[in-house]
Amino acid sequence: MLFNDIYAPEDVRALLNRSDQTTPEQVERALSAGHPSFSDFLALISPAAADFLEPLAARAQRITRERFGRIVRLYAPIYVSNECTNRCAYCGFNRGNEVHRVTLTPEEVLEEARALWREGFRDILLVSGEAPHKAPLSQLVETAYLLSRDFPSISVEIYPLEREGYASLERAGVEGVTVFQETYDPELYAKFHLGGKKRDYNYRLATPDRIGAAGMRKIGLGALLGLGPWRFEAISLALHALYLQKTYWQTNISISFPRIREASGGFTPPSPVSDREMAQLAFALRVLIPDVGLTLSTRETPAFRDGITPICFTATSAGSKTEPGGYTRPGEATEQFAIEDSRTPGEVAEAIKAMGLEPVWKDWDRAFIAPEPRIHQAKETERTL
Ligand code: SF4
Repeated sequence: MLFNDIYAPEDVRALLNRSDQTTPEQVERALSAGHPSFSDFLALISPAAADFLEPLAARAQRITRERFGRIVRLYAPIYVSNECTNRCAYCGFNRGNEVHRVTLTPEEVLEEARALWREGFRDILLVSGEAPHKAPLSQLVETAYLLSRDFPSISVEIYPLEREGYASLERAGVEGVTVFQETYDPELYAKFHLGGKKRDYNYRLATPDRIGAAGMRKIGLGALLGLGPWRFEAISLALHALYLQKTYWQTNISISFPRIREASGGFTPPSPVSDREMAQLAFALRVLIPDVGLTLSTRETPAFRDGITPICFTATSAGSKTEPGGYTRPGEATEQFAIEDSRTPGEVAEAIKAMGLEPVWKDWDRAFIAPEPRIHQAKETERTL
């Protein structure tokens, strides 16, 4: 059984109706529930709960400290390629946009990684548009392998693969895969995905199942906030995360909150999400799923990040560049979107300390589960990180 077999948008709409009718008394009951149920979650994301943001934040923060202590993991993306065969209306890499396209060679990715290593990072996210002819899986596998001895945590955010593709990345040392559904509403999905393989809503929806079945240690979910009504996406994300936790119980699930930012092509989000709404969503998810990882990106402003991180977030990017070569040859390629937090990684780490939390550059070592990445096709290459 896949998530596709149990997920029904019309059921989500019915749940959304229930949520919309929540009374203040129901919100209060949900806030004091010993073990909050899905009905409590519906109450906590409701319009009525918008007036209860403070007690909701307090509850979320208590749970975060109990489950995760005082640590916040730091990571940085490396954009491998901004080539893409898809036409996502909201993205600067949309194949219809006139942008400067670059695909890094494995050695160029290593150069980017060296720059991040010097900043302190041991946790990186390889990002690529959907262009297997430019950035083929074999090259991504080799790149991950080359990075794996120096970076204990490597994740990827790339085009969807078959299960065996994820398994080959896992053998090369990749521990996590992030794949955003963008919107769980199939009609909106069709409206914003205008061309390319990504138009296939069902294939994308089944991707986290293929990642879990391949034995990946981490799966990252997310909806692109601003495409559709956020409460619909919130309910869908919660259902998806709960399903994956139950089905792939050895895999860690995390959720990101990408809000649409300015990008080439000038897309205007039709359903903008305010800071308070995004906070309500993150707090309610923390209360419903206490052990889910919550990830915040540099898409958000420093003030918002510093305010919300101590309440419920467990990982954050820092010093991000969203174009290939951004750390070593800035300005050569077009970026995917503009970031809002341009502080250096060191400044973000200091800000985390000022919150009374501990920034963590490394929280995992592959040696805990396997002494070496197991790869046969990548050649041994001398590296000098
Ligand atoms: S969102 Fe991803 S798949 Fe869509 S155009 Fe951008 S890079 Fe390509």
